[in-house]
Amino acid sequence: MNIRHHFDDATLLAYSSGSLPRGMSLLVGSHLCWCEECRGRARQADCVGGELLEEIEPAELEVGTLETLMARLDDAEPEVSKQVAVADANPDSGLPAPLASILGKPLDALEWRRIGYGVQQYDLKLEGPGATRLLRIAPGVSVPHHSHKGNELTLILRGSYSDELGRFCVGDVADVDTEVNHQPIVDTDQECICFIATDAPLRFTGLMGRLAQPFIGL
Ligand SMILES: [Zn+2]
Repeated sequence: MNIRHHFDDATLLAYSSGSLPRGMSLLVGSHLCWCEECRGRARQADCVGGELLEEIEPAELEVGTLETLMARLDDAEPEVSKQVAVADANPDSGLPAPLASILGKPLDALEWRRIGYGVQQYDLKLEGPGATRLLRIAPGVSVPHHSHKGNELTLILRGSYSDELGRFCVGDVADVDTEVNHQPIVDTDQECICFIATDAPLRFTGLMGRLAQPFIGL
């Protein structure tokens, strides 16, 4: 796997500090299974986070804060971060292990729902803010032009697409925020399946996008 697009530092720091929504955390963990470079950077992010904690000046705690903190430490680790420890792709499905265990079946066996011309969706229906879904886009089809209210992470699971940011193949991630306005077009040789996690709904910009938004439900 020849991975050329990776996460921003800010995303890896947020992942390391546990502040990402569940779907985005699952996506980051999935890419880490495939990407040695980002695994190294994630370890650095863990160290940076630890040093920041040590440098923070002691402050008076509100009554109950320590108890709340200790109670949180006692909580079981979230399901997602446990799965991230598995650093190999699942050989049965070709999917990264964290995603494979949530889906429970191969990509082609999922109950895909058609949401537009050449576009199918599988909603992971994870709890928490944002949306977590797989999009399956036919060869040569373009996704409506859209910008973002928040952050959007995309991990390519099959095929490839191109947009203003470059060409994205299996294993690559697109890490975009409110500044980015893009229109991905799937390459013509095969369909593209993407894993997409957001912390807020997408906002479509062009007329076609505005028409498509309620229809596609992104
Ligand atoms: Zn990477």
